[in-house]
Amino acid sequence: METPVDTSQIVQFAALDDLLALSRANSLWPLTFGLACCAIEMMAAGGPRFDISRFGAEVFRPSPRQADVMIVAGTINKKMAPAVKTLYDQMLEPKWVIAMGNCAISGGPFVFPGQYAVVEGVDKLFPVDVYIPGCPPRPEALIEGILALEQKLTGKRRWPVVKPPQ
Ligand code: SF4
Repeated sequence: METPVDTSQIVQFAALDDLLALSRANSLWPLTFGLACCAIEMMAAGGPRFDISRFGAEVFRPSPRQADVMIVAGTINKKMAPAVKTLYDQMLEPKWVIAMGNCAISGGPFVFPGQYAVVEGVDKLFPVDVYIPGCPPRPEALIEGILALEQKLTGKRRWPVVKPPQ
């Protein structure tokens, strides 16, 4: 009797979840939204010098209903926090959050005993997927954050990790 041909080595079908994750990871649409000085670095990342369109993430959307990633770039004052939370709530699932800079991560340089005006980290308002430290982080750091988010979605690193020389 003839042995059936094993086609698994010839034809492979990606699982739909993998395909969706790959599509999402390569077309992250950030919300057009900045809070303070870190937003200038975010804008620079969208310009021709750093060009995040190489990573499919340059389509900054003016409406939260069209965006799937919120880059929280700047200080979140308590007065501003309800508006930031509303924008997050208006984004459709699936959605992700990048905390860019020390202010978004922990309140940054505005945290001191007795301060009453600043939210000490955007994760006090909603979940954060990627943290990018710095005051401010450079555009390259934001690109690294986007790559880290892609890796979270696909489980794979798109860009090879270059190990420093020993
Ligand atoms: S982390 Fe530094 S650069 Fe970024 S918003 Fe705060 S003070 Fe400005």
